[in-house]
Amino acid sequence: MEKRTELYRGKAKTVYTTDDPERLILLFRNDTSAFDGEKVEQLDRKGMVNNRFNNFIMTTLEEAGVPTQLDQVLSDTETLVKRLTMIPVECVVRNFAAGSLSRRLGVKEGQALEPPTFELFLKNDALHDPMINESHAETFGWATAAQLAKMKELTMKVNSVLRRLFDDADMMLVDFKLEFGTDAEGNLVLGDEFSPDGCRLWDKETGKKLDKDRFRQGLGGVVEAYEEVASRLGLKL
Ligand code: 5GP
Repeated sequence: MEKRTELYRGKAKTVYTTDDPERLILLFRNDTSAFDGEKVEQLDRKGMVNNRFNNFIMTTLEEAGVPTQLDQVLSDTETLVKRLTMIPVECVVRNFAAGSLSRRLGVKEGQALEPPTFELFLKNDALHDPMINESHAETFGWATAAQLAKMKELTMKVNSVLRRLFDDADMMLVDFKLEFGTDAEGNLVLGDEFSPDGCRLWDKETGKKLDKDRFRQGLGGVVEAYEEVASRLGLKL
């Protein structure tokens, strides 16, 4: 399967059409952005690492019964996926306080959250991805009540599967963001990607940050940290 026309250029991935109307190709680029695209850099190997990492996680989730858009990896940086109509709502689960939750509620970074929190954000750079609730999503037609219920159920399932996976590799899954879409039959399916660009991972012993906060906070060693996460999970890059 080959790329045809560019359908959408995101901040870290480009989406292409293919000859199959039900399939798209995701190209994972080296671009790394933060603060709604205000800080952008090219980081060598990041596209390849995230593509391989995403494939590993999506395969793991699929095996655990979470429907994903994954079809097959095509190359170091390209993956064939099912075409979805994306829902413009980001689902965030947090097991430990960090980032915008700590800023918003004044909670100390690292505080354990029991039960884990579940939040919704509108995917809209111009508005800086504002936090929303289910009522907003329904009223403005971003998602139906049934879709929201399913999104929450699947996001919590992803959390329980991945928390254990990272814990076994001596990492804390602090938080993560998921995006969903609907396929041609109207089924809710996990879309976008799962990589250290969209989650927080800390070393269990030292608390070392192994995710995109290294880029956001100018800590350096961004791709090296992603590669360390991959290698701890037994992934060959
Ligand atoms: P926060 O709300 O603390 O900024 O982010 C919570 C979690 O969701 C973090 O793991 C963060 O990486 C992820 N996240 C939230 N919004 C986005 C986004 O627009 N893009 C990406 N890649 N990750 C996001």
